Amino acid sequence: MNYPNLINSKLPNVGTTIFTIMSKLATDNNAINLSQGFPDFECSEEMISLVNKHMKAGNNQYAPMPGLIGLREILAQKTEELYGAKYDPDSEITITAGATQAIYTAISAVVREGDEVIIFEPAYDCYQPAIELNGGKTVYMQLQSPDYTIDWEKVKKMINHHTKMIIINTPHNPTGSVMSVADMIMLEKITKGTDIIILSDEVYEHIIFDNQQHQSVARFPFLAERSFIISSFGKTFHTTGWKLGYCVAPKNLMAEFRKVHQFLVFSCNTPIQYALTEYLKESENYLSLGNFYQQKRDYFINAIKGSKLNLIPAAGTYFQLLSYKNISKEKDTDYAIRLTKEFGIASIPISVFYHEQEDNHVLRFCFAKKEETLAKAAEILNKI
Ligand code: PMP
Ligand code: GLN
Repeated sequence: MNYPNLINSKLPNVGTTIFTIMSKLATDNNAINLSQGFPDFECSEEMISLVNKHMKAGNNQYAPMPGLIGLREILAQKTEELYGAKYDPDSEITITAGATQAIYTAISAVVREGDEVIIFEPAYDCYQPAIELNGGKTVYMQLQSPDYTIDWEKVKKMINHHTKMIIINTPHNPTGSVMSVADMIMLEKITKGTDIIILSDEVYEHIIFDNQQHQSVARFPFLAERSFIISSFGKTFHTTGWKLGYCVAPKNLMAEFRKVHQFLVFSCNTPIQYALTEYLKESENYLSLGNFYQQKRDYFINAIKGSKLNLIPAAGTYFQLLSYKNISKEKDTDYAIRLTKEFGIASIPISVFYHEQEDNHVLRFCFAKKEETLAKAAEILNKI
């Protein structure tokens, strides 16, 4: 039987994500994988023991829908200590299956048919499909070269009565740029008096370098009152495979968020939530992360000093952008594939983060790796 109209794709232009493609290519070619962002070293033994302890203690059934109250309490305390913002653990924090689910849930909770959502390119890949599956229209703004900053005057001009949401991401994947206090004040100014909701993707909140402070929207009361703030334990505790994250938002926003959350996943992994509740009590476990990754960044950039690739400085995240414009005029997607197959090193081409595949001959390398991996990678990069 033939039903040509059985499926009319809701995402006709979406294929397999670049992360899946490049990681597979790296495996198939036995290449060093600096493409998909995940550590190649273990998370803490203590945390594994804590998860194990809670599994053995019988904490293996459904957690409460918004997450364990103990975990939400400690997150409220952390948010207040770090950013000076009070959130009620009972009604303003929800534990999610990674940041990806939190992002989808927040968008789905508030974006309707015809609503416009502003995102900044290069943009992390899960925003646009979530907007469009919910009937929204993605409005693309380009970050400005050379250091990937936001032109707020341009943003202001793009705002109209259809604008429902602005998505920001600081520290920023893939560029490693961070937003400043001045950026936050501009965002506050242009959203004041509007019904625009902000989704602030802060999954790299603790991976920020050179003594800079992370500018969470939680620090800015007039932004916080209209914002979903999203973070990920995967990034902070080297456990991307555990897929746990959270969202904090004022009560009115969180009520809508939970209406979607409860039917998307209902609740998330119970023993890991118990383990995190204990592990988060020691603030060094997350406050040390910036230095930890700064050392890796510095090790990597020192090791590739001899390379012809040009460095684009990273102020945060665990990604380093390198430009190859002095080496080749090839398309970045082709070049990334060739480097993987011929040189044995996998990266992510930046054009995939632009809806029109803007190609500036830049690749993203993940430095969340053991020193020996980074040393091997550098040896290859220095030969290119
Ligand atoms: N946002 C950004 C900017 C990310 O880089 C990632 C993952 N690397 C996510 C969201 C998704 O996080 P999670 O793995 O917790 O779903
Ligand atoms: N966020 C990770 C990255 O940017 C990838 C996550 C994924 O594979 N979806 O590399």
